[in-house]
Amino acid sequence: MEKQLNQGTICVQGGWQPGNGEPRVLPIYQSTTFKYSSSEEMARLFDLEAQGYFYSRLQNPTCEAVAAKIAALEGGVAGMLLSSGQAANLYAVINICEAGSHVVCSSTIYGGTFNLFGVTLRKFGIEVTFVNPDDSEEELARAFRPETRAMFGEALSNPGMHVLDIEKFARLAHSHGVPLIVDNTFATPINCQPIKWGADIVTHSTTKYMDGHAVSLGGAIVDSGNFDWEAHADKFPGLTTPDASYHGLTYTKQFGRMAYITKATAQLMRDLGSSQSPMNAFLLNLGLETLHLRMPRHCQNAQRVAEWLKDNGRVAWIDYPGLEGDKYHDLAMKYMPGGTCGVIAFGLKGSREDAIAFMDRLKFISIVTHVADARTCVLHPASHTHRQLSDEQLREAGVAPDLIRLSVGIEDVRDIIDDLDQALRG
Ligand SMILES: *Cc1c(COP(=O)(O)O)cnc(C)c1O
Repeated sequence: MEKQLNQGTICVQGGWQPGNGEPRVLPIYQSTTFKYSSSEEMARLFDLEAQGYFYSRLQNPTCEAVAAKIAALEGGVAGMLLSSGQAANLYAVINICEAGSHVVCSSTIYGGTFNLFGVTLRKFGIEVTFVNPDDSEEELARAFRPETRAMFGEALSNPGMHVLDIEKFARLAHSHGVPLIVDNTFATPINCQPIKWGADIVTHSTTKYMDGHAVSLGGAIVDSGNFDWEAHADKFPGLTTPDASYHGLTYTKQFGRMAYITKATAQLMRDLGSSQSPMNAFLLNLGLETLHLRMPRHCQNAQRVAEWLKDNGRVAWIDYPGLEGDKYHDLAMKYMPGGTCGVIAFGLKGSREDAIAFMDRLKFISIVTHVADARTCVLHPASHTHRQLSDEQLREAGVAPDLIRLSVGIEDVRDIIDDLDQALRG
């Protein structure tokens, strides 16, 4: 039913569908466990023969309702919540990769994901090749190997604000028989729906705009249900051959288009347990109820601020895809015609110390390790979030050492500009 509704209605009404006499508002099922009257009933749940809840590590009604809302917003067939965005990207990959597998990944991605893929996954025996997403299809095709199992990119990169050519990536992934995974954290489904452009799996750090108020960590994975795992069965034995940990059940046979999410919840979440708490899911849902109102305001404010910064004599350079003449303006107009998000990347004339002094002079715009919430905030990735990366890795990730990441909030834009102005004047 939800799919026929428009985004704004899904934000408010999607997910929780109460029956007669049930709470109108999504309840917080703050319970680790669920009661059954016979041992037989519970056994059927354990065998995945019946649907229901038995232990909140695997599934919880509050979390499931919010996952369903996010899946509907993205236009997918199924979704799941996780404890963080990091967990979402980890699960999205290891649900189809194992030691010996290989992933082709855009190099312009969030620093945490860069470390996860480049260092930690390597210890698991999963190799990741980072590619320049703006390279031609021919150049990008060279990164694929027989053991490649997925392609990965961010629709809008954190913090560089590069726009991914999703159709190009989807074509490449599909011509090599693997799915495209897109992290859609910054654009949110309000501004971009990667599945429409060919992405197979969409991930989120719900910690950012979806929560929107900087109150709860969370992640989400949505499956389009479109990738034909059976057609590439040799590549994805975890989905297409019997699972010894479920009495030899085969996910694609038993669950069809729901195979990927069912495996990720029933198997990975059972074994690894990066579950989101029902309380966090409840808070996330409150954020989602206004996502369609907040995103346009973030974009309007950021557009005004970007235009103002661009004309400021102290600003050396600025990247915001909403600006005409920005390298990614055309791609943004194609994939995110309603706006990108509130994040602006820019550099100041002068030294690194000048940039730090500017940030320290800001008044209500605060220095925080966060981005994409209601309050305007600022961060210097090279000294904060991306500290672990070498200068070369920084450049590869599209992060200039002098890059200041300004996350424009939903305050009155005149006050945001005033604060920036006084800090720039020094
Ligand atoms: C923040 C972020 C993550 C990691 O999410 P957490 O919720 O902090 O674990 C992943 N991808 C992108 C694009 C992000 O901005």
